[in-house]
Amino acid sequence: WIAKWPGPAELAEASSAEVLRAWGKLGYPRRALRLKECAQAIVERHGGEVPADVEALLELPGVGDYTSRAVVAFAFGRAVPVVDTNIRRVIARVDRGEAEAPPPSKKELEDMERLMPPGNRAGVRFCAAVMELGALVCSARGPRCDECPLAERCAWRAAGFPAYEGKRRAPQKFAGTDRQVRGLLLDVLRDGHADSGLGEHEHFWVSRERLDAVWPDDTQRDRALSSLLADGLLVEANGEFSLPV
Ligand code: SF4
Repeated sequence: WIAKWPGPAELAEASSAEVLRAWGKLGYPRRALRLKECAQAIVERHGGEVPADVEALLELPGVGDYTSRAVVAFAFGRAVPVVDTNIRRVIARVDRGEAEAPPPSKKELEDMERLMPPGNRAGVRFCAAVMELGALVCSARGPRCDECPLAERCAWRAAGFPAYEGKRRAPQKFAGTDRQVRGLLLDVLRDGHADSGLGEHEHFWVSRERLDAVWPDDTQRDRALSSLLADGLLVEANGEFSLPV
């Protein structure tokens, strides 16, 4: 991705079809289009330079709390609290003595800010270290407390690892959902365009019949197709469908 579009100016010029093809099966393809819109906004509003503050980043398409803070901390080396799934779990265990983090809230940002050491360098390293600890040592299902540098100060360990009794976010299913059908429909366009030899700014059109072949449930397939059109991930003309260019 970086080799193809090294900066916002290059990505802003790319065709949507090319961006969606490069995104491949990463999931949530709307994010690919938001990233391109974000690059265009950076070119228009910030002269092609990624802004270095959280508020300006939050104004950009597709950028939320986590991304804005991660960019400021990890790309610009400024100590703002960053909270991802792994950090949330470590804070819940070490600081609050609970096995799992509750559904996301502003409170976690405040907790992280309170725990961070002063100074940009130390603060950023702390965020990266807690994130890594959550990914590699204090994992969701198999925390390796014997190897953990926080073992002596971990409230959950000290309390004897009590089971979690708080609220949980509903788990997201994938198989059989509209998301899966949307992915299958996009695959037809993406793979077809890649095999067609057409340029990135040329449409590769497929018939309705080719799309109908990917999923047996007419109602669900129609719903998925309509939502792809509404999201700007597909375009339609003369009864045929293409990635946007
Ligand atoms: S002691 Fe165990 S539960 Fe506590 S932070 Fe370390 S790995 Fe996680």
